[in-house]
Amino acid sequence: MKNYILAIDQGTTSTRAIVFDAKGLSVGHDQVALQQYFPDDGWVEHDAEEIWQATLSTCRGALSNSHIDATQIAGIGISNQRETTIIWDRKTGKPMHKAIVWQDRRTADACQQFIADGLEPMVRAKTGLLLDPYFSATKIAWLLDNIHGARVKAEAGELAFGTVDSFLIWRLTAGKSHFTDATNASRTLLFNIHTQQWDAELLETFNIPIALLPEVKDCSDDFGLTQPSHFDAPIPIYGVAGDQQAATFGQSCFKPGMVKSTYGTGCFILMNTGAQVVDSANRLLSTVAYRLGGKVTYGLEGSIFVAGAAVQWLRDTVRLISDHSEAERLAMTVPDNGGVYLVPAFTGLGAPYWDPLARGAILGLTRDSGVAHIVRAALEAVCYQTKDLMDAMVADGASKPATLRVDGGMVTNDWLVQFLADILDVAVERTQLHEISALGVAYLAGLRAGVFASLTDIENLWQRQGCFAAKMDAQTRAHLYAGWCEAVQRITTVEQ
Ligand code: ADP
Repeated sequence: MKNYILAIDQGTTSTRAIVFDAKGLSVGHDQVALQQYFPDDGWVEHDAEEIWQATLSTCRGALSNSHIDATQIAGIGISNQRETTIIWDRKTGKPMHKAIVWQDRRTADACQQFIADGLEPMVRAKTGLLLDPYFSATKIAWLLDNIHGARVKAEAGELAFGTVDSFLIWRLTAGKSHFTDATNASRTLLFNIHTQQWDAELLETFNIPIALLPEVKDCSDDFGLTQPSHFDAPIPIYGVAGDQQAATFGQSCFKPGMVKSTYGTGCFILMNTGAQVVDSANRLLSTVAYRLGGKVTYGLEGSIFVAGAAVQWLRDTVRLISDHSEAERLAMTVPDNGGVYLVPAFTGLGAPYWDPLARGAILGLTRDSGVAHIVRAALEAVCYQTKDLMDAMVADGASKPATLRVDGGMVTNDWLVQFLADILDVAVERTQLHEISALGVAYLAGLRAGVFASLTDIENLWQRQGCFAAKMDAQTRAHLYAGWCEAVQRITTVEQ
């Protein structure tokens, strides 16, 4: 019986592969760390060849660790770091350059120029995104302009562009498939999320030949068969989604108004907005949450740049704690934050403030303030920022969700999850599984393969590991949040 799914989770810092069974449970996995390259100030690159080798070896490792062979796999799902840009030669399959990673800021000036030229409203209306180096279009143009001869080759149809999903599909199928899915396409700045097509005006604006681009498919679709020599038997690729969308699917956020939030190094919040594109007045992103059977479900997305990274900073840079779990223990040793706020604007402030020049601060210190207050303030900050984003979503017309589904490394911290529920005044549900993005694409692939019959089938598999109800009184909540807003006001460089 083919009733297992092999899920690939190609992330920013590692490549993982997991075999899931028909109940959505992991039966074996493998993982390899990914080398980061920082060739210049603000530049971040990955070696696409290394990504491919890691994908192949972790897939083989996961199969062998789970004692499952390829003939038992009904399909492959791919979840990937989004926006990261790769260009390769169609004939040789060789990347023309290192991959430019989503974090890379080398095209900041180009984006500023487009904004100065008044293009942002058009780009925003079509793509739901902002004109920011984060997204792929200006990275593609940079590669075409900086690799010798690339533009001519691209015009002649000799080169292919892809986000990491496309590149992996190409390699897995030995060059037979040049596909992406609607969620990954929606992060390129070239894809019109209303028409679900590559957009001629956007291609012209960013000077990108259409010959480079992959065909865009549903998230649960036929992306081709793996080359027989990769595994013991050819396996169909049936599910693809960008990591945050995959997590939304893994959290079974299938109804409009449902929200998930992933707390890792940074934090990404995504709300299902159904068939409707919500045009945010607070510069949140409108995006494709998933597309099934040609039908698009849209999402509203906000991100916190520094979430777990603040805890890493406490441990590795200022050394106030020796391990992550100490953060929780220390936070509980004080009855409250003692008026101390930590605004972790290490790289500026994101939504809804959008202040790239702001920098972090610790405010409200007195002679009584100790390490525990500062550590507690770092954890509290993640929760206040979640409230900032959720309030922005509500201001954009979404209704306040009844619950928030959370996952990621930080949510092992019970204290943090309770404080989150208290500050949001929303019940917070924590899932059992850490690998929620991988599970999301396993579901997408399994839907196509018939391992899962329907979304209801998948919803029934969703399990929570805990539910944290809000316990804080309204007055305390308002007082604490007012303190946060005041702290943010003190460090912003733009008028809010
Ligand atoms: P990523 O996928 O972004 O690498 P993970 O989901 O693995 O991140 O989560 C790791 C992050 O969670 C780290 O930044 C770490 O500081 C944070 N973290 C892990 N355990 C705890 C804890 N008990 N309390 C607070 N933060 C934690």
